[in-house]
Amino acid sequence: PAAIYKIPRAPPDKILGLTEEFNKDKNPNKTNLTVGIYKDNWGHVTTFPSVARAQMVLDQSFEMNTDLSYLPIEGCPDFQSNVLQFLYKESCPEGAEFLSKNRISFVQTLSGTGALAVASKLLSLFMSKAVWIPNPSWPNHANVFQNNGFKRINYYTYYRDGGLDVDSWLQDLEQAVRDGDGSPQCIVLHACCHNPTGVDPSLEQWRTILDKINELNLIPIIDMAYQGLDTGDLHKDAYLLRMSLDEERYQWPNGLFLCQSFAKNMGLYGERVGSLSVVTPADTELKLNIDSQLKKIVRGMYSSPPGYGSRVANVVLSNPELKKTWFKDVQNMASRLQYVRAELGKRLDWPLLNNTRANHGMFLYTGLDPSKVDQLRRNHSVYLVQDGRLSLSGLNDSNLDYVCDALKKVSE
Ligand code: PLP
Repeated sequence: PAAIYKIPRAPPDKILGLTEEFNKDKNPNKTNLTVGIYKDNWGHVTTFPSVARAQMVLDQSFEMNTDLSYLPIEGCPDFQSNVLQFLYKESCPEGAEFLSKNRISFVQTLSGTGALAVASKLLSLFMSKAVWIPNPSWPNHANVFQNNGFKRINYYTYYRDGGLDVDSWLQDLEQAVRDGDGSPQCIVLHACCHNPTGVDPSLEQWRTILDKINELNLIPIIDMAYQGLDTGDLHKDAYLLRMSLDEERYQWPNGLFLCQSFAKNMGLYGERVGSLSVVTPADTELKLNIDSQLKKIVRGMYSSPPGYGSRVANVVLSNPELKKTWFKDVQNMASRLQYVRAELGKRLDWPLLNNTRANHGMFLYTGLDPSKVDQLRRNHSVYLVQDGRLSLSGLNDSNLDYVCDALKKVSE
């Protein structure tokens, strides 16, 4: 038979496949708590006021809105300066020195996933084909690294028996280095609001973890998809980046990779707006080499990023009034997620949920096993991800009672 018949059927995406099923469900009480998209108390995906205003500014500006030509391979120059300023001066003042020494390579990417794709391609071409991902993690991590040349996808213990297990995490890393062949290995760190568990290490625990990663010479890849959704303060939530860029403590001889997304904190999901930055250990020459390779990778992958979303982000980031509004928008989103969490805690006297207030961000790891998740879906039309992850943003005043009732019934 022709070679085309060698293509086997791939399993459906674990999360997006469920939404297809949800759309077909006829139950009027059906509730979709699968995807990580923020919805307001009325169940709507709304545009943040800051972003809507930025869109109006663009609409009214002939100059800003009529240029539909290609962006440069590395993205819009204004976007680069705005984002670098936001990340490495405002969110992480420790980064200013790296910027002034010209030690940060940057490309605008197709959101956080695109940043991970470009980072993993660069790493696998020149530096490393082994990566450590938390267990559990966002399922697409393994997929992206595999698709971009990584040969060894390994998992470090992150969450076990209903909680974070830092001791096992560090033991796994030590073992990895002992068993390795001496070539560099990478490690993915969720900057905050760990997906899917919603449980993050404390600052003290992060200090210990970073010390160990540094000692073992692993290459840190910080995945910051939820900046602002933890405390509601965009700047505050960049604590892992701030801690990592303490040069007296860590030199990161193979660089530090930051994959950053505006999907969640600007609600720009479908516009694909984000960035990859590589903090290099040395001088400008090295940065220029990395810049050139990043451009070569992007050119071969998708040529250049889309324009509109980055223009919206530019307006928000460069207009002081809109920026202030954006900070408020993010604060409101985080507060609503905290409110929903508290309401769940009030309604469910459920040991698995005792931890509710210690969790952060958009997700709650219910601890329900796949058969209970199936029961929830089949008997009550309440959709969670198979691993028991519940997206809090789908809960609101109209469905909290119904969902809590269903959760109680399946966990009896
Ligand atoms: N990393 C994590 C942990 C995520 O949860 C997500 C999105 O759900 C992403 C990265 C990337 O998202 P996007 O490509 O939409 O920015």
